[in-house]
Amino acid sequence: MKKTVLVSGGAGFIGSHVTVELIQAGYDVVVADNFSNCDRTCFEGVKRITGKEDIPLEVMDFCDMEAVKALFQKYPIDAVIHFAAYKAVGESVAQPLKYYKNNLTSFLNVLEAAQEKGSFVLFSSSATVYGEPDSVPVTEATPRKPATSPYGNTKTICEDILRDTVKASEGKLKGILLRYFNPIGAHPSALIGELPRGVPNNLVPFITQTAIGKRECLSIFGNDYPTPDGTCLRDYIDIVDLAKAHVFAVSRMVEGKMKQDCEVFNVGTGRPVSVLELVNAFEKVNGVKLNYKFAPRRAGDVTAIWADPTLANTEMGWKATRTVEETLKAAWAWEKHLAGK
Ligand code: UDP
Repeated sequence: MKKTVLVSGGAGFIGSHVTVELIQAGYDVVVADNFSNCDRTCFEGVKRITGKEDIPLEVMDFCDMEAVKALFQKYPIDAVIHFAAYKAVGESVAQPLKYYKNNLTSFLNVLEAAQEKGSFVLFSSSATVYGEPDSVPVTEATPRKPATSPYGNTKTICEDILRDTVKASEGKLKGILLRYFNPIGAHPSALIGELPRGVPNNLVPFITQTAIGKRECLSIFGNDYPTPDGTCLRDYIDIVDLAKAHVFAVSRMVEGKMKQDCEVFNVGTGRPVSVLELVNAFEKVNGVKLNYKFAPRRAGDVTAIWADPTLANTEMGWKATRTVEETLKAAWAWEKHLAGK
C-alpha cells in the first residue's frame, strides 16, 4: 500500500523540492499551503517535473484548527512534514508576536491532529538552534544555545514541543527533527527554486539576482571574522540533497525503523565554505562577474558553523552528494529561467 505524506507549506522552496522527491520515491503526497509567502510557480513546476497533474492541493492556513482537523479527516495521512512557517529573521525581530503566533499555533495544530490520527511528524528545524557553537563541526549532541531571533526561537520551541508531546504520548506519537544547515540551489530541471519576495535576505538568491542585474551590488557582510579569508563559514546544502533526506526520514518513520520515538538529525554536508569562496565559485562555474563589496558585519550572524552529518549518513543512510559547483550552476539556471533567458 502506498503511504500518504502531508506536506504543509508544500508550495514553498523546500516543500516543493521535497514533494518532488517523495512522489518520485512512490509516495502519495498532499500539498497544503496558504500561499502567504509564495505563488503557484513552484507547485506548477512540481507537476511538470513529476508528470503528475492531479497532486492534491489544499489552500488552507494551519493556524485554523478546524481546517487542519478536516484535512486529517479527508486524507489517510501516514506522516506529516511541517514546513508552513514564517522565516524572515529580521522581520521576526520587528514583529515577534506575528512569528510566535503563526509558527507555534500552526505546529500545535498539526501535532494535535497527528497525535489523534496516529500520524508520524517530521519537523523542519534549523542549525540556528546551535547559535554560535563553542566548537565545530556540530553534532546532534552539541548543546543548543539561546536563539538570537524570535524566528530562531520558534525552531527551538517547536523542537521542545515535539519532544515533550512524543514523550507524553507513550509511543503513540513519533517524530523526527531535521536540522537544516544552509539550503541553496534549485532543481536541475530549473522548473522549481527559491522565489524570495522583495530584497533577498539569503546569500545565494542575492548573488543570482545581482548576477542577472536585478540588484546592483552584493554586500559581503564582514571580512574581519577569525576565519581563513575573514568571511563567515557555513555548510551549504544542495536543495535536492536536502529534499532526499526527507524521503529517508519518512521511510524510517513509516517502515518502523526508528530507534527512538523522537530522533534528531543534522542535514548538512560536513564541508565549511566561506562567503568569499562561494562567491568565487559562483563566478567561476557560471562564467559571470559579480559586482560585490565588503560591508560591515550583519547583526546576529555567527562566525562559523557546519555540520557533522555522521548520524544521518550512518543511521538514515543519507548523504549529500552534490558539489557546491553543481548547486551554484542550478541556482543560476533557475534565476535565468525566471528572467526568461
Ligand atoms: N551574507 C552576505 N550577504 C548577503 C546575505 C548573506 O554576506 O547579502 C552572508 C551572511 O553574513 C552569512 C552567509 O552569507 O555569513 C549566509 O547567510 P544567509 O542569510 O544565506 O544564511 P544564514 O547562515 O544567516 O542562515
